[in-house]
Amino acid sequence: MSQTKLRIAIQKSGRLYEDSVKLLAECGIDLRNVKDRLKTESDNFPLEVFFLRDDDIPQYVEDGVADIGIVGENVLYEKNKQTTIVEQLGFGKCRLAIAVPRGQEYESVKALEGKRIATSYPFLTKQFLNDNNVNAEIHEISGSVEIAPGIGLADVVCDLVSSGSTLFMNGLKEVETILQSQSVLIKNNKLNEAQQQLLKKLVFRIQAVKKAKRTKYVLLNAPNDKLKEIIALLPGMKSPTVLPLAQEGWSSVHSVLSEDTFWDIIEQLKDKGAQGILVVPIEKMII
Ligand code: ATP
Ligand code: MG
Repeated sequence: MSQTKLRIAIQKSGRLYEDSVKLLAECGIDLRNVKDRLKTESDNFPLEVFFLRDDDIPQYVEDGVADIGIVGENVLYEKNKQTTIVEQLGFGKCRLAIAVPRGQEYESVKALEGKRIATSYPFLTKQFLNDNNVNAEIHEISGSVEIAPGIGLADVVCDLVSSGSTLFMNGLKEVETILQSQSVLIKNNKLNEAQQQLLKKLVFRIQAVKKAKRTKYVLLNAPNDKLKEIIALLPGMKSPTVLPLAQEGWSSVHSVLSEDTFWDIIEQLKDKGAQGILVVPIEKMII
């Protein structure tokens, strides 16, 4: 019998929880009463949601208990399960890094030879050491890795970092980056045809949301004698929309701008005589 529902595993609570639920909401998927549940479903999309510890998500997806999941690349690669990445989601950004006590000299990775390294990521740490022909002792601990050197449990840590303030507060400095990570959507490798079709729908929505986040809708007033130069600055989806204003000699120009070029172009538009520039967020973008 073919599955008629897609089952997604997301983090039950923690750093990925809110962004995961928010992403589903932005995709127009309403979830029934999310709080304190192990499982819920949607009334307007054939989706069942399992709330799990992030460490367990790759295994559940490999086993097919869940069809898809949202998890950090750090956890995904550490667990080394057979699943496939479908889409990078752009949240939960961090890096897995090696940090040493601030006073300690560190010239190269060779400085780690013979050291005791505390980490929650033994697999990735070992891989990094092997790749660099370094022998060190790995001490696996499940949390508060950053305090390990301070209490004499280890010489060095390999831990997740985002701003670096936790390392700093614990007297550590970052010396090597092992992995740059963000959250990803993963899928089971043996989805059936019906599940693939549902996943395609979901990914289509996710891509529309992601694209919209990187893009702004811009409206401005332009003097007609500068219209050509102003339009040349604006890419638009096909080309900008131009409408005459009630005031003679002026037009209203509408277009979309990508985040990367945004400020640069806005400045040039002002220089060319554009006025009343409005910048509006875009909710979804289908191209
Ligand atoms: P769980 O109870 O689900 O096992 P956890 O304590 O292992 O939760 P969190 O601290 O909630 O995990 O982090 C979840 C994910 O968020 C990490 O695996 C990582 O992908 C991402 N993340 C982003 N920034 C950071 C950071 N500064 N420290 C830790 N994780 C981060
Ligand atoms: Mg975890």
